[in-house]
Amino acid sequence: MEIDLFLLHSLIPSWTSVVLLVSFFTYLGISGSLLPGKIVHGATLPDGTRLHYRCNGLHSLLLLITILGIGVEVKLISPTVIADRGLELLSATFGFSVLVTLALYIAGHQSSARGSSLKPHVSGNLIHDWWFGIQLNPHFIGLDLKFFFVRAGMMGWLFINLSVLAKSIQDGSIGLPMILYQMFCVFYIVDYFYHEEYMTSTWDIIAERLGFMLVFGDLVWIPFAFSIQGWWLLSNKVELTKAAAIANCIVFLYGYRVFRGANKQKHIFKKNPKAPIWGKPPKVIGGKLLASGYWGVARHCNYLGDLLVAVSFSLPCGISSPVPYFYPVYLFILLIWRERRDEARCAEKYKEIWAEYCKLVPWRILPYVY
Ligand code: NDP
Repeated sequence: MEIDLFLLHSLIPSWTSVVLLVSFFTYLGISGSLLPGKIVHGATLPDGTRLHYRCNGLHSLLLLITILGIGVEVKLISPTVIADRGLELLSATFGFSVLVTLALYIAGHQSSARGSSLKPHVSGNLIHDWWFGIQLNPHFIGLDLKFFFVRAGMMGWLFINLSVLAKSIQDGSIGLPMILYQMFCVFYIVDYFYHEEYMTSTWDIIAERLGFMLVFGDLVWIPFAFSIQGWWLLSNKVELTKAAAIANCIVFLYGYRVFRGANKQKHIFKKNPKAPIWGKPPKVIGGKLLASGYWGVARHCNYLGDLLVAVSFSLPCGISSPVPYFYPVYLFILLIWRERRDEARCAEKYKEIWAEYCKLVPWRILPYVY
């Protein structure tokens, strides 16, 4: 009963959690607009225009780490503030996602009534429009919201992890599993920001409309669900052998290589279809589809790499509980579903060229299996 009451109380957003959240978004908005960064041209939109993205996420992240580091040093903030208020922050972020989706829903209907040149997609079904969104590229004070939210989610994930790390140092529970989990995540997240421009050619940015599914996914799911392993390690002890730790590092490095390599090859190909792939001229179908490198091994090798990385985030937790495997299982379901939707989109967009590609590269994600 007492635990139930504690949980209920923790789930109510406190003023501190609201202030933390608002400060974080305000910082991201200001730094995203002001800090220098490479300007990248996005995919061509249905009306022939192209959006531009200021890829300054890494600068924004490094500056925030510096500011927070100073804040911790002068004892203005506690490094465990997020770990201490995880549930409150979760509920505050959830509430914020609902409000944002509501605003997007109203703005989408208004721009559709105005007959916007980009023709927002209104299905007339409230649940559908709420969930999948109406506008493809909504902007607010000059910021592309989809790009902004995924940045917030990835940074939020890192700061939750760092706070959990501080907590584990404070309570003396830190060990090899926590260090491995933290190392892999830091590498993956910083690498994301280093390659932030690759995000501009991904499915989320070019094809998905912004509704609750994406807002919730970016703002709540990424930071809170992806950090489950860290939270779990705070209260569970795991003994890892040296061999298991080395095997874990190999899974991470191999998965990362495939994930980053495949995404990089596609990004380079889109910019310059003649650029060599694995040191050779690329095999191109119909002048549009890359069929060499990782894209000649399977049609979504990038998903395979990401899944291996996801498994490597959970392996430090051992196999005594299914809880830390939540992220790879969720990602597996998401990517299988997404792969099906992406195939349908590409089949419609590229028609016979796509059929030819499928004949040449029959495997969807994992060669000889799927
Ligand atoms: P992709 O980056 O694979 O993008 C799919 C698009 O790429 C297609 O719609 C098509 O778009 C283009 N394309 C597909 N095949 C080819 C080809 N052979 N040659 C040229 N262009 C091609 O998908 P995602 O955006 O879904 O994923 C990007 C990364 O993000 C992945 O590594 C994925 O694992 C990761 N991800 C991670 C998630 C997480 O929660 N951790 C969630 C979702 C994604 P076009 O019309 O431009 O040609």
